[in-house]
Amino acid sequence: MSIKFYNTRTRKKETFRSLKKGVVRMYTCGPTVYDYAHIGNLRTYFFEDILRRALLANGYRVRHAMNITDVGHLTGDQDFAEDKIERRAEKEGKHPLEIAKFYEHKFLSDLQELNILPPSRLLRASEAISEQIAIIAKLEKKGCIYTDEFAVYFDTSRFPAYGKLTGQKLSEKRTGARAQVVVDEHKRHPSDFALWFFLKGRYKNHILRWPSPWGEGFPGWHIECSAISRKLLGQPFDIHAGGVDHIGTHHTNEIAQSESAFEKPLARFWMHGEFLLIDAKRMGKSEGNLLTLDYLKEKKFSPLDFRYLALTAHYRSKLNFTWQSLESARNARKELEEFTRELLKEKKGRSKGKQQPYALIEKKFMQAMADDLNTPKALSVLWKFIHHYRKSKIRQSAAAYALLLTFDEILGLGLGALKIAYIPASVQQLVNRREEARQKKHWLQADSIREELKKKGWEVKDTPEGPVVTKYY
Ligand code: AMP
Ligand code: ZN
Repeated sequence: MSIKFYNTRTRKKETFRSLKKGVVRMYTCGPTVYDYAHIGNLRTYFFEDILRRALLANGYRVRHAMNITDVGHLTGDQDFAEDKIERRAEKEGKHPLEIAKFYEHKFLSDLQELNILPPSRLLRASEAISEQIAIIAKLEKKGCIYTDEFAVYFDTSRFPAYGKLTGQKLSEKRTGARAQVVVDEHKRHPSDFALWFFLKGRYKNHILRWPSPWGEGFPGWHIECSAISRKLLGQPFDIHAGGVDHIGTHHTNEIAQSESAFEKPLARFWMHGEFLLIDAKRMGKSEGNLLTLDYLKEKKFSPLDFRYLALTAHYRSKLNFTWQSLESARNARKELEEFTRELLKEKKGRSKGKQQPYALIEKKFMQAMADDLNTPKALSVLWKFIHHYRKSKIRQSAAAYALLLTFDEILGLGLGALKIAYIPASVQQLVNRREEARQKKHWLQADSIREELKKKGWEVKDTPEGPVVTKYY
C-alpha cells in the first residue's frame, strides 16, 4: 500500500519510499534527561511510535535511532544560558551523569508503560564526543565556523539554504531572531549558534568537559543529533522526526551543520508532532503546568488510557488535555478490552475460517494509517466494525479476533495480552492437585506439578485469592 506522510520540508503530503529497499532508517530527537518527562513530551514519543509501527505494519524493517541529551542543552535560547543538567546536578549536589542516568532510566520506563517500542539504537551525547568534534573539524575545513574566547560558532551566512525547513529566508530569520536574542555580541549573526563551548565565564566550572582542537569544553546541543544520526544511520537517512518546536532552531541547525559538512541532505522526510495543550496553553516547564505519567497513575489512570487519548487526535493537530477526555479515553479502551474478551470467549473451540471475511475493514484501517497516520479515522473504522459485529448474526469470532490483533500492532493497546479464564479440564485438575499439595506443605510435589504445567504451556502464580493460571504466549 502506498503510504503518504506530510513532509515539513516540502510542506506537502508525499508518497513515502525508503532510500534502501525494505528498510527505513529513522531518527528521533531524544529527551534532555534533567527532569521527569511530562505527558506533552510523551505525546511526541507516542507519535513517533505510531509512525514506526505503521512502517512495520507495511512490511518495512525499521532502524530507529535516538539520542539522549546528557550535556549541552541550555536553559534558554541565548547562547550563554545554563546547562540544564549541570544546573540540576548543582541543586541536588550530584554529578551531572548521575542526574542524567536517573532520568534516562525513568524516561525509558515511561516509554515501556506506554507500549512505545524502544529505539533500536540509543546513544548518549556524552558518549559521542569524538564524532561531534569530527563534524566541527570538517566544518572548520570548509570555512563554516569562527571562534572567540567563549565558543566555536557555526556561521549561518555560509549556508544559503539556512531556514529552508521553516520556509524562512536567512534575512527574515536574522531579523526575527534579533528581537529575542538579547544582543549577543559574541556572534556575527543572531542566527549563528554555538558548536562547542569553552570553559569560560558561566562555564568555568562546567563538570563535563573534553579536550578538543579548539580548547577544552563541551558540545552545544544541536551538533549531537548531527553526529549521532550519522553514526547510527548514515547520511542521508529516511525520516527525521520530533516535536514542532524543533523546526525553527534545532532541526534547522542540524540541517545547516550536516549538509554543510557533507554536502548531501541529512534526511529525506521531516515529520513533526504537534503540542499537547492544557487549558489551551502549551504544556511546558516554563508554563508551570506539567503533568507526568506517574501523576496520571496516582489518579488511577493506566498509561494506556493516555495512549488511547493520544490516538484520538491526529499528530499534526494540537490536543487539549482534560481529565474528562482522559476518562472518556479510559471508557473507550475498557470497552475495547471487553469486546476483545468477548471474542476470545466466542473463539474458544472454533477453528479458524479459511477466508478472511474482514479484509475490507482491514484495508480501510490501513488506508487511514497510510494517509499521514490518521489515527482518529483508523479508530472510527475500528468502532464501526465493533458496532456492526455486535449486531450481526454471522460472527466470525476467530477472524474478528485476528483482525483486532492486527490493528493492535499499530494501536499498541495491549489487546494481545488479554486472556480469558478458560482453562482446559486437564490443566485445572493439575492446578487443583498442586493446590492440595501446597496446603499439605508438600513443596516438592507442588513444584514438580508447576513444572508439568509449564511443559504444557501454562504458568501458575500464587496470589492471595488463590492460584491463577495463564497461558504462555
Ligand atoms: P526536551 O526533553 O525538552 O528536548 O523535549 C522532548 C520532546 O518533547 C521534544 O521533541 C519536544 O518537541 C517535545 N515537546 C515538548 N513540549 C511538548 C508538548 N507540550 N507537547 C508535545 N510535545 C512536546
Ligand atoms: Zn535533535
